[in-house]
Order: sequence, then structure tokens, then C-alpha cells
Amino acid sequence: MNTAWVFVPVSVLAAGGAVAQMPPRPVFVPQLALNEAASPSGFGSAWNVAGVERSWEFVVIHHSATTSGSVESIHREHRQRKDRNGQPWLGIGYHFVIGNGFGMPDGEISSTFRWRDQIHGAHSGSIRHNASGIGICLIGNFEYSKPTAAQKESIVRLIAYLIDRYQISSRRIIGHRHIRETACPGRHFPLGSIVQESLRLAETPEHSGRPD
Ligand SMILES: [Zn+2]
Repeated sequence: MNTAWVFVPVSVLAAGGAVAQMPPRPVFVPQLALNEAASPSGFGSAWNVAGVERSWEFVVIHHSATTSGSVESIHREHRQRKDRNGQPWLGIGYHFVIGNGFGMPDGEISSTFRWRDQIHGAHSGSIRHNASGIGICLIGNFEYSKPTAAQKESIVRLIAYLIDRYQISSRRIIGHRHIRETACPGRHFPLGSIVQESLRLAETPEHSGRPD
């Protein structure tokens, strides 16, 4: 079932292997196109995918459980991890990251290589949810604080777009803790109201996430 791990595109591994030898930013991001930022109000080229879109069934929401962070910092950490077969992760396990102003602009949505290349995530601890779930991580620790207003606005916009594009039902927009025993995305993450607002926005014909 989890054969996606085996069929790793060689180009991705090669690109990942090059990371360690390269000096850190600013060349890191543009050269690897590890992530591409989209402004909270815009749906630019960062949302485009390379190749065939997966048939996504779930949206799985996470917090970073840190006070600061970015695509790059999570990528570095996740590259230290190994999967159940002892293979190193390809890199950041999420498809999208939303910044909180510490490490990434507040409310900025960045897609990662997993979204661009439409490959499985490594974020849920469940083969099914990694294979068919879009992993979104908000920077912050929502056990102790709330997401920022800009983060809430951005995740509503992002989920509305995903509902619209992949016909994901509201029951399948879930927090990590609905899959396994974890506090993620934290007790102060307002999942119910985020889902309701996303549904409302998705039903608005002119909402900005709707592709033209
Ligand atoms: Zn999580």
C-alpha cells in the first residue's frame, strides 16, 4: 500500500542530497524551489503543481509546536528523520506551511516540494492519511497560544480553495489528533470555526481561491 515510499523520484533525492553541501539562504530557496510563497490574498504560481494532481481526500492540520519556524527549518529537521523502513525522509513532511511572523511572514502560505510534485506527505503517522491527506502546518504552539488573525485568514482561504478543487467533505478536514494520539494542532486551534468559515468561503462563487 505504501509503495509511494519506494517510487521516490530520483530527481527529488538528488536535489535533497545537494542541500547539505550548499550554503544556507539566500541561494537555498530559489535554487531548489523547495518552497514558494504566496501572499495570503493571492494564489500565484506557488499553487501550481508539476504533473498529475493526486486525488486528495483529506486535509490534515498541524501546528509546529514551536514559537518560530519556516519551511526551511522544518525541512532541515525532517531530513534527520527515518521512515519505518529506515529510509531517510525526503524532507519536509507537509504540503503547506503558514507562517506566524517568526521565521516566515505572518500569514504567508508556502507550498513545499510535496505539493508541487504531488507526492505523499509524511505528517500523520497513518499510511492512508499520508497518501491522500494534504498536510498543512501552522507555525506556533497552539497548546499555549492561538493562531494569529493572519494565519486564520490564510488557512480559511487555503482550505476553501482545496474544498473547491478536490471536493473534500467537511468531515475530512481534521486535526492530527483525530488520527493518532497527539495534542497537535493544540487545544487553542479553533478547528470547528475554521472549517465552517472555509465552507462558507468555498460556497461564495467569487472567492479568490476559485480558479478562473
Ligand atoms: Zn501534527
